[in-house]
Amino acid sequence: MPDTLTMKDRMAMERVHMPELDAQTRSSNFEEVNRGLNLAQAVREAKRCIRCKTRPCVDGCPVGVSIPEFIDALAKEELSEAARILQVDNALPAVCGRVCPQESQCEAKCVRGVKGEAVAIGYLERFVADWAMANTNQLTAVKPPSSTGKSVAVVGCGPAGLTAAGELARQGHGVTIFEALHDTGGVLRYGIPEFRLPKQIIDVEVERLLDLGVRIECNVIIGKTLTLEQLRSQFDAVFIANGAGLPVMLNLPGENLKGVYSANEYLTRVNLMEAGRNPDAPTPIIKGASVAVIGGGNTAMDCVRTARRLGAERAMIIYRRSEAEMPARVEEIRHAKEEGVEFVMLTAPLEIIGSDDGWVAALLCEKMELGQADESGRRKPVPVPGSRYHMKVDVVVNAIGTRSNPLLTATAPDLELNKWGNIVGDGEGATSLTGVYAGGDIVRGGATVILAMGDGKRGAAAIDGYLKQYVFTGKGY
Ligand code: FAD
Ligand code: SF4
Repeated sequence: MPDTLTMKDRMAMERVHMPELDAQTRSSNFEEVNRGLNLAQAVREAKRCIRCKTRPCVDGCPVGVSIPEFIDALAKEELSEAARILQVDNALPAVCGRVCPQESQCEAKCVRGVKGEAVAIGYLERFVADWAMANTNQLTAVKPPSSTGKSVAVVGCGPAGLTAAGELARQGHGVTIFEALHDTGGVLRYGIPEFRLPKQIIDVEVERLLDLGVRIECNVIIGKTLTLEQLRSQFDAVFIANGAGLPVMLNLPGENLKGVYSANEYLTRVNLMEAGRNPDAPTPIIKGASVAVIGGGNTAMDCVRTARRLGAERAMIIYRRSEAEMPARVEEIRHAKEEGVEFVMLTAPLEIIGSDDGWVAALLCEKMELGQADESGRRKPVPVPGSRYHMKVDVVVNAIGTRSNPLLTATAPDLELNKWGNIVGDGEGATSLTGVYAGGDIVRGGATVILAMGDGKRGAAAIDGYLKQYVFTGKGY
């Protein structure tokens, strides 16, 4: 298509569709569902962008990616330039292009969405990032910085920790990441399933960090193997990014029965330990013929779609509000439905009923209707009298939410926490302890990948400023 398109031509172009694996095939395997655009599709979609002067899409991006500029380079088929622009602001574009809720961020602000459909910014980001991963020889090599002689410990190897580590290493600081699990990536690896985010993408991003000289020590729990005070004495600064991986319990009778999992345990067994997917995996999982997943967010969708892939005949979402209130991404809900997941809406679980030998046998449920809006602004579910019933299930997965794990914070009494146990930050990452910074879910509570990355970036900038001031004045903590 010629690049002499008029505004009218651009406005007449329809949004591209993401090619997807057929629903029946994919619901019995873990292959990535979204297949990615080809060059012709990506370039055509890039030409739908009308290069607004006010660039509202950039305001919608938590890390401020230069969206019109990378899209413009893509439209001109200058792919290495598009990749360069993208990577300036986004350390994990191949991840964000797959899991960011663009429909409520950059794409929600896109002016093309006012009278039609927004430019598919997320699809284009993914296309450019994937091209860059496959064509590293065509990218401009980044000169390694000279060492500042300063060292930083990063706690946690999820998106916040990975981003902070990359930014700090590029400033020439010596960075060591301490990770409790035996592998890298945080939720990206143990939580988000392969069918949404192939693990090979995390491997490539981690490899890039190792090339920058970042050291990663797995199987080290800060608060158990080492304390925060030990890190403070061995490093010039610390960035805490240990996430919010502690499940919120259902507090229902029967929660201790065999066959009840927290979402994190369920997903970690399948994703990280390969339970149910690899016949040689030593970690077991109860697959279940009838699986009830309680919750309505992205985590619940990941669990229920995983249950389906493990062979559940009935894989159900049990949610006490209606679909309109569900926090999960629209695309996840659509994919789940196409894969045969049942949505049991306006239903609250009251009790998990066990068999004589202690296994899950049924869920006692109650129908709900929506009343007045509560403090969250969403209409409150109210029980419908006389509507209790039993649902036959053999696995229950609790996906109602997570909170911060107290392992680290319990051993750091001077670190200020809020009432939910999250570390209190100053907005730039500084905590109540000099030289200790924090970001991601440990500060925000369960949030998103891109917000965690934004925190990693801001925290790294604050640490860099702190270390430079430290060098300049000669004062430390
Ligand atoms: P994490 O990713 O949780 O990483 C923290 C790391 O710290 C972990 O590796 C953990 O093992 C390690 N750690 C914990 N304690 C210690 C310790 N004491 N010592 C050393 N290491 C420690 N967001 C989106 O934007 N899009 C999505 O589609 C999406 N889907 C999700 C699906 C699931 C199943 C879940 C659970 C979350 C999802 N999220 C999604 C949310 C997103 O993944 C998180 O907001 C994000 O990963 C937070 O990043 P983080 O770096 O703060 O923490
Ligand atoms: Fe392009 Fe939409 Fe951003 Fe405007 S708002 S520059 S059309 S992506």
